[in-house]
Amino acid sequence: MLESPKQIRGGTLKEIHPEFLKRKIIHVDMDAFFAAVEILDNPSLKGLPLVIGGSPQSRCVVCTASYEARKFGIRSAMACSQAYRLCPDAVFLMPRHRRYVEISKEIFLIFARYSKKIESVSLDEGYLDVTEECQGESASSLAKKIKEDIWNEIGITASAGVAPNKMLAKLASEKQKPDGLTVIRPESISAFMPTLPVKKINGIGPVTAEKLSKYGISLCSDIYKHRKMDLYEKLGPRLAEWLWDHGQGICRAPVENNHDRKSVGSEATFPKDLTDLDSLKKELQEIAQDVHERLSKKRLLAMSLTLKIKYADFSLETRSTRLSTPFTTSEEIFRYALLLLERGYKQPIRLLGLSLGRLQDRKSDVIQVQVPLF
Ligand SMILES: [Mg+2]
Repeated sequence: MLESPKQIRGGTLKEIHPEFLKRKIIHVDMDAFFAAVEILDNPSLKGLPLVIGGSPQSRCVVCTASYEARKFGIRSAMACSQAYRLCPDAVFLMPRHRRYVEISKEIFLIFARYSKKIESVSLDEGYLDVTEECQGESASSLAKKIKEDIWNEIGITASAGVAPNKMLAKLASEKQKPDGLTVIRPESISAFMPTLPVKKINGIGPVTAEKLSKYGISLCSDIYKHRKMDLYEKLGPRLAEWLWDHGQGICRAPVENNHDRKSVGSEATFPKDLTDLDSLKKELQEIAQDVHERLSKKRLLAMSLTLKIKYADFSLETRSTRLSTPFTTSEEIFRYALLLLERGYKQPIRLLGLSLGRLQDRKSDVIQVQVPLF
């Protein structure tokens, strides 16, 4: 059994990643956004258990539940019929997507006053890198101003988190919902990460959490009871590396300005160079899943795919293909990627990467609601 990540890595976080601790990232997340917009437009709904999704007699799912409705156990993605059983007195409304987009635009215009680097995660959630902007002012005071602007100009509340990276900023914004502001300072990271449940880390879904619990990993500190090489074997190198870093509060992902985005990509450098097609296929499948996930998170569609191959001698090759309709699943991305790979490779491969291009906004299915049957 190993001690702490600090000892394993041979230095404190500050010593290892000074540049990553200097960043100031704000994560802003609107509180029960769709419900808040409905209340904004119809104040008589205020204080009522409110379910945005559709009729309880339909097969619709809950998009957003107001905090009053959440007290009855109603959650997003639950069937509206189930929500009705939990709280028959709740008010059920159909989502008004266009209206939410309108308000969302106003929110992002407010963000734009405070940073040039804004990454939109969804209509009601975004990251701002304010490292440059907050030279004379603390990032937390900028976050406070953003919250105030949203409240004063739009009339709804947001929760904000401030931290040196995206993962921590998101954790922070979730700490004191609704209308909260939480700051995670670099010096407090090593104190609170060990007791954090791994499933709280953005990116660890129920399936991964279940897999990790099989290996006795439920808290971040549990990660370091395993040797890194053992985690490589159990989880695969990509997840193992990712978990090893994130479990200590390290997240390198930059705030990506979505508006400048020309492609979405993912790549993997293998622990040892690969030659056999089966191993390459396996890796390619993982990369395809990752790139598809990134694309979905950004609510984008892609119509071109590029495969990047870096060989053992570091020479590089790229191959591309175009589609007439957008990719829909990670399997589809994988299939096309494999066709590109199967054109042949000349020597052992050290890295494979996929990037999706010709991007467009996914308009029609931002809110996935089934057509009601009433
Ligand atoms: Mg939200």
